[in-house]
Amino acid sequence: MHKRLIIIGSGPAGYTAAIYTARANLSPLVLAGTQSGGQLMITTDVDNYPGFPKGIQGPELMERFREQAERFGAEMIDRDVTFVDLSQRPFLVRAGDELYTCDSIIIATGANAKWIGLESELRLRGRGVSACATCDAFFFKGKNVFVVGGGDTAMEEAIFLSKFAKTVTVVHRRDALRASKIMQERAMANPKISFMWNSLVTNVIGEEHVTALEIENLKAGSKGIVPADGLFIAIGHIPSTILFTGQLETDGNGYVVVRNLTRTSVDGVFAAGDVKDARYRQAVTAAGSGCEAALDAEKYLGEHHQETIASGKIPSPEISR
Ligand code: NAP
Repeated sequence: MHKRLIIIGSGPAGYTAAIYTARANLSPLVLAGTQSGGQLMITTDVDNYPGFPKGIQGPELMERFREQAERFGAEMIDRDVTFVDLSQRPFLVRAGDELYTCDSIIIATGANAKWIGLESELRLRGRGVSACATCDAFFFKGKNVFVVGGGDTAMEEAIFLSKFAKTVTVVHRRDALRASKIMQERAMANPKISFMWNSLVTNVIGEEHVTALEIENLKAGSKGIVPADGLFIAIGHIPSTILFTGQLETDGNGYVVVRNLTRTSVDGVFAAGDVKDARYRQAVTAAGSGCEAALDAEKYLGEHHQETIASGKIPSPEISR
């Protein structure tokens, strides 16, 4: 089956790209994945998405994005993409038993936070365990929180958390940080931030909410329990780019490399959201880049794939903002 545009992924970036391209009469197909909606589906309160002064639950926000895209005729299929071939035109995309061809692709497959991998960490996720201080720090006013990691993200999270929390303890598995010097200096100069070196969180304790952590000192080989109100995991993210390995330029951490905001190394293939953004990783920035990718894809299709329009199969694209 041939499509002019396929959007792979269904977080804020994918759904926003769908809203814009559907309104531009590009009849996008969104291959949303079996777990559609992205990282916000495992987030509870979203307090910083503009337009929701009282906040909104992550899954509800994503449902609204989706409804809005469907209203303009975006087709949604909740299947995982298992194969992509960007070396031929039209491009090939397989999802389930269906093999699609398409003239353009927007990649919005997102990224996932790395987790330590503890059962208790999973059970208490959203109930004291988080991987996003920007999203959740506000809920820890006057509390004692812990951050795991020694990179720039961990320092950034610790500094941000210190604006709300009473104390912030960084738990790092070695005795030297990986973070850039300037971030290290900022964190170390912050009177609310302290460090536990050579240490690993080995259990998260709490029934309804985090109450304590079990921490192992790797040098001493001993374990202890410390009271805690929150645990922020900041040990990196993994962009979902495995489908495109060897087909698109990615950076050392696996993020899609873009030029002019959304253009990838393959003409006609655009990237939006966390899959190309190691830095901001916010729902609102992902949505913004979904819009950019949509406008870029529309321009590309207008310049390179007018024939479908000329044949009268679809109305002339017309973007509305
Ligand atoms: P990162 O640099 O890979 O650091 C990950 C940290 O987590 C490391 O300290 C690592 O320990 C630790 N870690 C990894 N797996 C662990 C595990 N299972 N248990 C305990 N600790 C674990 O990741 P990042 O901090 O997310 O940064 C990613 C990239 O984005 C970097 O290039 C960074 O410079 C950039 N970034 C920049 C900014 C900024 O400029 N403002 C902000 C955020 C991120 P080891 O050190 O022992 O390996």
